[in-house]
Amino acid sequence: MNAKINQTKDIFLCAICNIESGTCNEDCKFCTQSVKYKADIQRYKQKEIEQIVEEAKMARKNSANGFCLVTAGKGLTDKRLAFVCEAAKAVKKENLGLILIACNGTASVEQLEKLKEAGVDAYNHNLETSRDFYPEIVTTHSWDERYQTCKNVKEVGLRLVCGGIFGLGETQEQRVSMLESIASLEPMNVPLNFFIPNKALPIEASTIKREEAFELITLARKMIPNAKKIMIAGGRELMFGEEQYKIFDKGANAFVIGNYLTTEGKSAQEDIDELEKLGFKIKRERA
Ligand code: SF4
Repeated sequence: MNAKINQTKDIFLCAICNIESGTCNEDCKFCTQSVKYKADIQRYKQKEIEQIVEEAKMARKNSANGFCLVTAGKGLTDKRLAFVCEAAKAVKKENLGLILIACNGTASVEQLEKLKEAGVDAYNHNLETSRDFYPEIVTTHSWDERYQTCKNVKEVGLRLVCGGIFGLGETQEQRVSMLESIASLEPMNVPLNFFIPNKALPIEASTIKREEAFELITLARKMIPNAKKIMIAGGRELMFGEEQYKIFDKGANAFVIGNYLTTEGKSAQEDIDELEKLGFKIKRERA
């Protein structure tokens, strides 16, 4: 397994913390957090701050470099903003050295400034797919709004994390178009997701094959050469199976450890053990 992988490069790990789950009124066809599709997932309003801090400590113990505070929903309301700021301050107080990322949907310059003041280092907002394909996937908000939020992130001086998801029925041209749009924003990190089918969702099956997915990782690295991390996020296990560490040979240098937002990943320790067994160096730098 994974016999000829280049093990010389540093690998970064990132953990996500779903601090509000499954309560979204938007209709993104790939997302189990939308209340419209009634997927069988955990739904809750606000995770306890103590639990968020515990998860951050665990993430650091598991060699995570980044820790992402994710909320469901189209964007930041006053209440949600106050909650994310409270969580960010609590995590930062622990001085764990984590890069703190917020991922809370559409956000204005003013809201992003407040997050920055609370200690958030980076903001994750994915374009998801190409501009022309987006209306087939989401009807409750526009792609342009997403692009504007990414521009707002840059304007306030937060580091931008911006990627997308493949396998929703998009064409190869649309995949390339999304990568071009991401490249135009010059993000720090680019998370790539691969659609995970769920019987509750309107999209029945992923439309991307493993070899195409590997090629897209290489293409993303080529088209966005200055991104510090090309990160493989949701769908890693399902898409790449026993070949999942080959992603590092194709241009990725980071992945999400532990559970994803509504689906379970491999245990972080399992991943770390396998990476180290294969000779990879996990970068444990401090923010
Ligand atoms: S992707 Fe975001 S905005 Fe869309 S349904 Fe899921 S949580 Fe809501």
